[in-house]
Amino acid sequence: MTSTTPDPSVTPDSGRPGTPEVLVVGAGIAGIACARALREAGVPVRVVDRGRRPGGRMSGRTLHGRVVDLGAAYFTVPDGSAFTDVVAGWERSGLARPWTDTLAVLGPGERAATVSTTSGPMRYAARRGLRSLVVDLADGLEIEHEIDVTHVDEDGTVHASGADTAHYDTVVLAMPEPQAARLLPPISPLLARLDAAAWEPALAVVLGFAEHVWPADLHGAFIDGSPTLAFLADDGDRRGDGAPVLVAHTTAAFAARHLDAPADAVDAVIAEVGALLDLRPAARPSWTHAHRWTYARSATTHPEPFAVQDHLGVCGDVWGGRSSVATAWASGTALGRALAERR
Ligand SMILES: Cc1cc2nc3c(=O)[nH]c(=O)nc-3n(C[C@H](O)[C@H](O)[C@H](O)COP(=O)(O)OP(=O)(O)OC[C@H]3O[C@@H](n4cnc5c(N)ncnc54)[C@H](O)[C@@H]3O)c2cc1C
Repeated sequence: MTSTTPDPSVTPDSGRPGTPEVLVVGAGIAGIACARALREAGVPVRVVDRGRRPGGRMSGRTLHGRVVDLGAAYFTVPDGSAFTDVVAGWERSGLARPWTDTLAVLGPGERAATVSTTSGPMRYAARRGLRSLVVDLADGLEIEHEIDVTHVDEDGTVHASGADTAHYDTVVLAMPEPQAARLLPPISPLLARLDAAAWEPALAVVLGFAEHVWPADLHGAFIDGSPTLAFLADDGDRRGDGAPVLVAHTTAAFAARHLDAPADAVDAVIAEVGALLDLRPAARPSWTHAHRWTYARSATTHPEPFAVQDHLGVCGDVWGGRSSVATAWASGTALGRALAERR
């Protein structure tokens, strides 16, 4: 990726030629898709994110020498979606790979040997982790990291820690609704269109083993009826390197009790995974890692693909259908195109 860091002495101002007219706050897949659509339409755009790298909830972390996906477990490609072409490009360049269309369904009391499976759409993963796909989409965009936007005024003035106050013609908030709601001015009509209360947390708990101690054809599993776990993925299987690493996603209720100290949740997750997969008591992970997602997903979505009001817009995975990576991409793309047309 060749993202460039803008000259800090330049204060964006849409009245001056050559400076960005649009600021996208959030370098997850929705924000990057929005910025790409704007750039393709010739609109000067800048992206900022408070994190150190793009990716948002498609991020991972290098643990014990390899990347582990900590956010989205996989992505799917809705029939007839323009996302198909993007994913085909990623497949051609070796970035994305079809993972599986068959996942297990595990429940308390069931054993791995008697597990049922469910077929569905092809689930895609990425050899270098899902973040690598967002990095690829971000190629050539102007992105500044570690800029924490604190609030935005109705006229498009942006206040941030780590950057000067700046004015843009339009500011796009591409992030979970509770985070967007905190940035919007209290009088913004957009606030009434957000459903910040519907967002739930999750923990991603990584269990690294010395060797495979679960069935080779497990791929991943939906967990039914567990108070602790909602999903389990074989990270080596989805990423294609065969590493004996499991990633467990907890239920929202379990995560809510451990948000202050995610590491304290690891023992309960190990016990639940051991019971679900019928592992021998000696088959303990040799290392673990717990990651907190305060806003992992929302229980509600909006039928419209984005919301925009005067100088401010919002997009993301809850805009335009079932909350997913594909929806986030489509939402950002639709908002970027709409802003370019509005010009
Ligand atoms: C545990 C988990 C499992 C999931 N599983 C799946 C799955 O299997 N399939 C699927 O399709 N989807 C899944 N998802 C959802 C998927 O990850 C999201 O739909 C998608 O990544 C959302 O992208 P986004 O761009 O809308 O938001 P995000 O990726 O959340 O991006 C928002 C960005 O905004 C930045 N930001 C926030 N506030 C500020 C601020 N004040 N200033 C500057 N920057 C800010 C953040 O740093 C972040 O980079 C999962 C998510 C989680 C957490």
